[in-house]
Amino acid sequence: MAEGSQIVSLNIGGRHFTTDVATLKRAHDSFFMILLDKRWRHSPTEEHVMENLHFFIDRDPHHFGLILDHLRRVPFNLPTCSRAIGDIRREAEFYCLDDLLRVMRRHDFHDFGRGPMFPGDRIRIDWRKVEELEAIEADSEGAGHLGLTRLDYLHGREVYCGECGCNSKSFDGRQRAVTERRNNDDLGNVIKVYNNGKCCDATFGSSKLIYHLPASTLDLIYEH
Ligand SMILES: [Zn+2]
Repeated sequence: MAEGSQIVSLNIGGRHFTTDVATLKRAHDSFFMILLDKRWRHSPTEEHVMENLHFFIDRDPHHFGLILDHLRRVPFNLPTCSRAIGDIRREAEFYCLDDLLRVMRRHDFHDFGRGPMFPGDRIRIDWRKVEELEAIEADSEGAGHLGLTRLDYLHGREVYCGECGCNSKSFDGRQRAVTERRNNDDLGNVIKVYNNGKCCDATFGSSKLIYHLPASTLDLIYEH
């Protein structure tokens, strides 16, 4: 039997759950990786390992089904009750499930735009949204979005972003306007988030250039 398809029996605080090694190892750097790695290391023979994947974990089993669904990449709904959310977050922290914690942070901000984005997120520019924003800004007198400004024309002037309020003073010369990326690869990585996610800085491919983007023009790419 391949290692990944091996059955694992978990007794979580007295309740029994069954899954396989591949599912538990899907979350890198998690509690389960350590649990299973120790198991391999201390096992004298392969056969011994194959027979004994039973673990007792002294935790509250109440939300463990949801945690397993997350690891199985099965769609699940987080409860609306804030107490339950707190309980799940505590369990996710115990099991070191960074992915689940990230989903939960997003859930906390679910009313906010299309994000919010977090550093490390994969995003794609929605050019239709960029054009809508350009059209709005062309008609307005107020401060524009810095991501639409030709930043190389600023020449050290201090300009505030009309969207997130950040100051161009904090930029280091690598920033470019998003419109300069048109017709280029539009799949990028978020490296910094401003003002609760209203804007973010993103890089694309191996380029060192940074694009200051309104979250409303970005689609999150879920890579599960
Ligand atoms: Zn901004």
